[in-house]
Amino acid sequence: MTDSVVSADAIVRIGKMMYNRQFIAGTDGNISVRLDDDRILITPAGYRKGEMTVEDLVVIDYDGKKISGANQPSSEMGMHIRLYQDRSDISACVHAHPPYATSFAVTNQSLNEPVLPEIELFVGPVAMTSYSPPGTDAVADELHKYSADHNAFLLKNHGLVTVGKDINQAFNRLETVEQLARIIWLAKQIGTVDSLDQKEIERLAELRHIIG
Ligand SMILES: [Zn+2]
Repeated sequence: MTDSVVSADAIVRIGKMMYNRQFIAGTDGNISVRLDDDRILITPAGYRKGEMTVEDLVVIDYDGKKISGANQPSSEMGMHIRLYQDRSDISACVHAHPPYATSFAVTNQSLNEPVLPEIELFVGPVAMTSYSPPGTDAVADELHKYSADHNAFLLKNHGLVTVGKDINQAFNRLETVEQLARIIWLAKQIGTVDSLDQKEIERLAELRHIIG
């Protein structure tokens, strides 16, 4: 069970960081934490995530029904719920539209390039899902295809979703994937992107599984 007060503070803190890092604009993005087997704490719909307070957050159940909170839950709650149902090992989910990673999603270019040890070690492969209208069950269905063995998902023509054992790990992964996209974008301006060799990729994947 995750402490709801600590989780609420963490969601507000991560919301500010997402805004300050320019990973979101307007009312974009959503963040959730699994409190226990019955409850999820999630950001409200239609709020600027850089200006939320803990009172703005909403508690929902795994059917998407509101348990407490004055606001409506995020319209993207379906994908959060599905990811928690798919993965018993995760307790947090973060979604944003970071510009470099989203540029890859908009141009249908995979970010699944093994070029940086940090990605191989802390994130693993980045899935590319097909386009689904935001806020629909189709987004959750798309994520479900990849959720068993991915921690990061590029949503085609939309943005990026990451999961983690806690909110810090989920946000670290979001930030790490955005940094990967930025580095690949910059690298392509000055040369050819060179991948890590297969042996090193396997060594890092093994380490990732050991450190969880
Ligand atoms: Zn979005």
